[in-house]
Amino acid sequence: MTIKKLPFTKEKILEIIKVHPTPFYIYDEGAIRDNARLFKKAFGILPGFKEFFAVKALPNPFIMKILKEEGFGTDCSSYPELVLSEKIGTVKEDIMFSSNDTPANEYKKAKELGAIINLDDISHIPFLEKHAGLPDLISFRYNPGPARKGNVIIGDPKEAKYGFTREQLFEGYKLFKDKGVKRFGLHTMVVSNELNPKSFIDTARMMFELAVEIKEKLGIKLEFVNFGGGMGIPHKPEDKALDYNKLAQEIKELYDEIIVKNKLGALKVFMEYGRVITGPYGYLVTRVLHLKHTYKDFVGCDACMANFMRPAIYGAYHHITVLGKEHEAPTRVYDVTGSLCENNDKFAIDRKLPEVGEGDIIVIHDTGAHSHAMGFNYNGKLRSAELLLRENNEVVEIRRAETAEDYFATLDFDKMKSFKA
Ligand SMILES: *Cc1c(COP(=O)(O)O)cnc(C)c1O
Repeated sequence: MTIKKLPFTKEKILEIIKVHPTPFYIYDEGAIRDNARLFKKAFGILPGFKEFFAVKALPNPFIMKILKEEGFGTDCSSYPELVLSEKIGTVKEDIMFSSNDTPANEYKKAKELGAIINLDDISHIPFLEKHAGLPDLISFRYNPGPARKGNVIIGDPKEAKYGFTREQLFEGYKLFKDKGVKRFGLHTMVVSNELNPKSFIDTARMMFELAVEIKEKLGIKLEFVNFGGGMGIPHKPEDKALDYNKLAQEIKELYDEIIVKNKLGALKVFMEYGRVITGPYGYLVTRVLHLKHTYKDFVGCDACMANFMRPAIYGAYHHITVLGKEHEAPTRVYDVTGSLCENNDKFAIDRKLPEVGEGDIIVIHDTGAHSHAMGFNYNGKLRSAELLLRENNEVVEIRRAETAEDYFATLDFDKMKSFKA
């Protein structure tokens, strides 16, 4: 059971709205820091532990700066994400560059910054060498294929586009070793938004056993294993959060049993989680514009799927609170919608809520990761602002809302005027 609390009162939100109109995202700095510390303390029992925050989950440099201060590196997968990392002063081997289908300029930038490069495919070996040169330290992403089941969001590993097969992995290490590369890492990511601890234990075992096999077959002592991302968060009130301490303990036991026993004790354990780091500590705040009663009852919000698309694309459950009505009985059933000309533009379907009125403020929970970041401009919709609720209760705008001018920024109307249709 997870209680869905809010870090602000209705009065506080009404005060914020006077300066920052809805819709907006608001992140809770205190809760992000507390969670980051618990996470680091728990997994810090693993040798050489480091968490590289998956930038794609919440690519905002203010948040990234907070996480840097808490001791996290960054996990980047594109040129702009590398630049964001550089802007907050996270460079060199504090960056994990885990991309796929990677363009040459991105490898070049990653190499320039001295990032750890994690290759997604064996064909990228000559590609990387040609465009960015040989790295000092190289990592490969392993896809266990039929050996593992994956989960709903990421899919079946053997259907997934990511990573090296087992054979390619050994071939890849050998290729680089023959070229004189001396430092190696191993990466994988087989689940996404997963709440079952067993899946992370299975991954740890798989990676530790593979490290031993790589040592035995190729004489390579890996410098690190990286378990990737994919820890889930309790979206539904009945979901249970992962227990960091328990999980860390169990992984540590496996480390001792497999790694230490085989005298590979210099192996570091890396992770690159995003969702579990910031997901529960972000809220999308939106106002009810219209109530509509046809064959169903609809609550129409001023945010839409262009601001937040997880429910529409994954059917994801996100808890909803009607501000000020937390203690009222959920006597009504609504579809909570946005204004996009797409019928899947719904934040919730058949959701039990207290009676909603025009002008009510709705808070959508667990939108601190993969939420604002997935925004888009379809239908000429503009992305909302991001605010940070600081530990002293001050509110800082950490990204302004887009304007129509932003939407038109890539168009040249003067050129259009002289263009003969
Ligand atoms: C998306 C992604 C992550 C982060 O995933 P979370 O579900 O946010 O933990 C980490 N590594 C890679 C390679 C990814 O694609």
